[in-house]
Amino acid sequence: MKKQHVIVVGGGLIGLCSAYALIRDGHRVTLVERDHLGAGAAVGNAGELTPQQVAPLASANTVKDIIRGVFTRSSYLSISALELPRLAGFGIGFLRAAGRANAARGAAALAQFSGGILPSLQRMAADGIDISGGGEGYLMTGSDEAALLASHAGYVRRAELGWGEAPGPILRDAELHEQEPTLDPGVSGGYLLPGEFSLDPVTFVASLIAHLEGAGPDAFTARTGLAAIRVGDGASVICADGSGSETAVAGDRLLIAAGAWTTPILRRSGIRSARVVPGKGYSYTVPVERMPRTLIHANDLHCVAIPMHGRLRIVGMMEFDGRPERLNPARIDVLTRGASRLLIGADWESRTDEWVGARPMTADGMPLLGAIPGRPEVLVAAGHNMHGLSLGPITGEAVADLVAGRPTEIAGSTIDLHPFAVRR
Ligand SMILES: Cc1cc2nc3c(=O)[nH]c(=O)nc-3n(C[C@H](O)[C@H](O)[C@H](O)COP(=O)(O)OP(=O)(O)OC[C@H]3O[C@@H](n4cnc5c(N)ncnc54)[C@H](O)[C@@H]3O)c2cc1C
Repeated sequence: MKKQHVIVVGGGLIGLCSAYALIRDGHRVTLVERDHLGAGAAVGNAGELTPQQVAPLASANTVKDIIRGVFTRSSYLSISALELPRLAGFGIGFLRAAGRANAARGAAALAQFSGGILPSLQRMAADGIDISGGGEGYLMTGSDEAALLASHAGYVRRAELGWGEAPGPILRDAELHEQEPTLDPGVSGGYLLPGEFSLDPVTFVASLIAHLEGAGPDAFTARTGLAAIRVGDGASVICADGSGSETAVAGDRLLIAAGAWTTPILRRSGIRSARVVPGKGYSYTVPVERMPRTLIHANDLHCVAIPMHGRLRIVGMMEFDGRPERLNPARIDVLTRGASRLLIGADWESRTDEWVGARPMTADGMPLLGAIPGRPEVLVAAGHNMHGLSLGPITGEAVADLVAGRPTEIAGSTIDLHPFAVRR
């Protein structure tokens, strides 16, 4: 295979994982990042790699959440009324994706990656990338009996389809609190979900950047503080620096991996694509008297508590306000109200590291992964929704496969990339 010079736009999870896989294949990478490497949603997230949960967000249940999200400020989902006109097309696509047949198709398309998620991460670990900070152990909780049974049944069904391991039995009351003593007494049900993994994304991203930089300038160059504006001729991108002056950065191939900021770059270039919309989430660190034994995902409270290198990170919320960088303190309050009903022994007033990040959301929950129609030299890998860490390592490998012109195979099966077409 001819070694190529690949320009990667965006130094978040997908851009970094792609750069890694491309360099491993022997290519040269120039990464263009408007901020610093590991910006965007790369490091403040929940650190979960969840082969069993990689599925589109849209379902019949989320439709009623949308109505609450527009009209109340106490829900995990918040949609700014001012944003509604701009979100109309996205909303219609989301409602369409929530239909039973479309949701099933989306789940099947994403499940193609499930078996490759942890092996791909392990390959990075074998190469020296630090995946520490979390580990195995995943407790799903819920106090609404019907919702708990439905979510448990959903994982049983996935296991029957060969998309993961069956969940443990449902634990109730004393049995549950024996399993996890830090749970609030009001939490009445839960089950363990084997086969999921978590890591500290701060360590992971720092280690990945160090690895790329260690490859040397012949393999990897990063140009930070430089923002891609639009795609140029061939495999080039037109960028602006802080002073507003424009530069073209050109190679043999171009990869747009700018997360929640991808759509404006494509639109300015006259490229039609499925839209990527910022859906903001929040996290912070809270001191606790006792660390939970495992990661706890509260299905009904819409928050996750993740032990990470001896700290406890609280993560949650989904906010559509069209301002991807703005931290809204009211959302942190809503997150804390939920989390304080999940755990005991936390000092909620002593939060640190408050963070906001924009998930790159698509209406159908599917990332954009492939070449732009009629422009085989320009690739897109963006729109990984809530799963950019889970899917990052395997997406990087898929990008390297696209550059090499070979199919991506997971456990002997070729991945069908049609559901991820850039224009759909
Ligand atoms: C609260 C929260 C919790 C999450 N938890 C998890 C989890 O547990 N597991 C999981 O799998 N996923 C999780 N995610 C989702 C995950 O973080 C995203 O899917 C992932 O970060 C997407 O990667 P990306 O590279 O596409 O975007 P990002 O990581 O956001 O990176 C995009 C990069 O592009 C850069 N950029 C933007 N515009 C330009 C431009 N014009 N020119 C050049 N560069 C540009 C940005 O500065 C940024 O560095 C979570 C997200 C949030 C917000």
